Amino acid sequence: MMSEDRLGLYLHIPFCRSKCVYCDFPSYPGMDQWQSRVIERMKEELRDKAFQLGHRKISTVYMGGGTPSTLAPDLLNDLMQTARNEFPFAEDAEISIEMNPGTVTDEFLDAAQRSGFNRISIGAQSADDRLLKLLGRIHSSDDICKTVAKIRSQGFYNFNLDMMIGLPDQDLNDVTDTLQCFLALKPTHISCYSLIVEEGTRMFDRVQSGEAVLPDEDLERAMYDTVRSTLEKAGYHQYEISNYALEGFECRHNLDCWNRKEYLGIGAAAAGFIGNRRTRNAMSIIDYCNKVEPEVIELSESDEMFESVMLGLRLTRGLSKNDFYERHHKDICQVYGAVIERLIGQGLLTWDEEYLRCTKRGLDLQNMVLTEFLQ
Ligand code: SF4
Repeated sequence: MMSEDRLGLYLHIPFCRSKCVYCDFPSYPGMDQWQSRVIERMKEELRDKAFQLGHRKISTVYMGGGTPSTLAPDLLNDLMQTARNEFPFAEDAEISIEMNPGTVTDEFLDAAQRSGFNRISIGAQSADDRLLKLLGRIHSSDDICKTVAKIRSQGFYNFNLDMMIGLPDQDLNDVTDTLQCFLALKPTHISCYSLIVEEGTRMFDRVQSGEAVLPDEDLERAMYDTVRSTLEKAGYHQYEISNYALEGFECRHNLDCWNRKEYLGIGAAAAGFIGNRRTRNAMSIIDYCNKVEPEVIELSESDEMFESVMLGLRLTRGLSKNDFYERHHKDICQVYGAVIERLIGQGLLTWDEEYLRCTKRGLDLQNMVLTEFLQ
């Protein structure tokens, strides 16, 4: 497939059973009565977008949320059928869906299979029931094992487990125990994110009041290093700051996002990227159903070049000098030569043939590296 023909598709399902303590994602508990209306609006949005882009082949689909596994099975089938009616799908398309333990029924898995999903991402987060409770997750560690057993029995072997570090009351033993438990479940992929405490969440209030105490920087760094070394020993290679996979099981949808490939965003709060325009649909379910216009940001040439650097340096392989030239018609060394030289001199960046990448220290100090490119 020619690279300009392919298109990613992100579908946002905004429903959840309850709000986790740390969550500031666009997800809305207690609004399941809106499911049919939201799916009708998403189908309409797919048809509208197909007018301009319906000739492009969908190479990856990612259904995220929220909790897509709270969707009624017939609505899932209906939405995916519309997507296939409006766009051609590549034969080898990667089609991922997020599911949360405690919400996955046999009927839902049947529907996911009929809809052609071939990759599942499970919001597991931790194998420690005390930490799951502290995060406000609705599931236990036992539910994670049951969910994995259930998806396997339906023939889904390509699955990711999400994991969190940097949690209040979490120590290195908790991290090691969760890794051992997750590795025993034999996922093809593990995403491990540090907790970010966002203003407006209950976690923020707890941290502010001193009720929850976060690990210090050294302990959080030790957790990150433990995850990296344990997973690498187990055969999972780190291909992005927070993502590890068995060879050949990297998430293609996310890789395309980091490589600035175009994707459509469908659904409340969904982000999209076409040409030099980044779009964000109305955040609330009601505004989305009432067709409130999306926010559109037109990127300037320098915004686009900075994005290429910012996203490409997240990847352990780095940013391809040739891809940069193809995309921007400029040599990266002419645009950023002085800053690249300086960061190489500080041991934060290095060239690996045509790839400019962060060293291990550069990955650890990535915010500082990116700030240099902004100046
Ligand atoms: S399940 Fe995910 S999207 Fe839903 S409230 Fe929890 S963190 Fe947020």
